[in-house]
Amino acid sequence: MAEILAPTEANYTLLARHLAGGGLVGVPTETVYGLAGNALDPAACKAIFQAKQRPWQDPLIVHLRDPADIAAYARPPPWLDVLAGRFWPGPLTVVLPKREVISDLVTAGLPSVAIRIPAHPVFRKLLAACDLPLAAPSANPFGYISPTTAGHVEESLGEVVPYVLDGGPCRHGIESTILDLRDPEKPAILRLGVIGAEAIEAAAGRPILRPKSAAGTAAAREPAVAPGTLARHYSPRSPLRIHPYPLTGAALDALPPGWVALFFTRPQPTAGSGPPAHCHWLSEAGDHSEAAANLYAVLRKIDATAPAGILAELPPPGSLGSAITDRLLRAAAK
Ligand code: AMP
Ligand code: MG
Repeated sequence: MAEILAPTEANYTLLARHLAGGGLVGVPTETVYGLAGNALDPAACKAIFQAKQRPWQDPLIVHLRDPADIAAYARPPPWLDVLAGRFWPGPLTVVLPKREVISDLVTAGLPSVAIRIPAHPVFRKLLAACDLPLAAPSANPFGYISPTTAGHVEESLGEVVPYVLDGGPCRHGIESTILDLRDPEKPAILRLGVIGAEAIEAAAGRPILRPKSAAGTAAAREPAVAPGTLARHYSPRSPLRIHPYPLTGAALDALPPGWVALFFTRPQPTAGSGPPAHCHWLSEAGDHSEAAANLYAVLRKIDATAPAGILAELPPPGSLGSAITDRLLRAAAK
């Protein structure tokens, strides 16, 4: 059983010591909960892969407190400062040519390293307390639904992680946007997230390449440059199928026995009664940010009831629509 620790001074000190000794900690971030270890300690990084049963070829994101520290670990282009000023601390990860000090284990043997400056105040305090770069993938068994509360981490990794630092439910609820800057002349989005390509483009003042293929297509199935872009990911145990927006009464009536429906927003009540018990939704208010923040918690709740299947409605177009669609398509991929 993992111990869920409140963010107190005494616990920051305890966890900083634990991390310095090579231990792992479940940590809150503004995207999803992470499983953190010292990025400079190959044994700690190895333990992260083992705890998650993550394939060795799926590299880890390194979290730093201050963009000024990046130069010690990677070679950023000068114009990264503009993005740093606009988006950090926050849910943007950049992939940069790495320096020697970063081990091959962190980068899966790639000559590049992914770096993020997180915004969550509790995670930032832990980074300050331990004064280490922390490698942290999402704190879930590989391929399963990402965690957005300390309880989710305890549920699925409680047997292999001694401590989870509780920072409350994650604000954004989906993973960071990953921007590939290995060739600064051809910046490219590797994973969609809360920060949209348009916003990055506007800040950078240069074109940003979008992901080439939607999840689930043949191209997305190939072992990718960014393995987080594997077609199957974030998946519940029950089969999940997607439905284009909007999911109507007719599709609902045609649901096979034991299936549940996951709507973007609360479906209209029929004949004065509330939605049937097998209907779930991501956002009461029909808001994309709220839907993203709730996505994984709702999927986990549904999955815990082991339905025969889940029919999930894709979100309507909107700022976060493509990032949520991306996660649902991957959850549905076989
Ligand atoms: P997560 O599983 O949310 O921690 O995300 C980690 C993802 O970041 C990986 O699956 C890759 O998609 C991406 N990533 C990390 N390091 C690199 C790297 N060196 N080069 C390319 N992509 C990377
Ligand atoms: Mg992950």
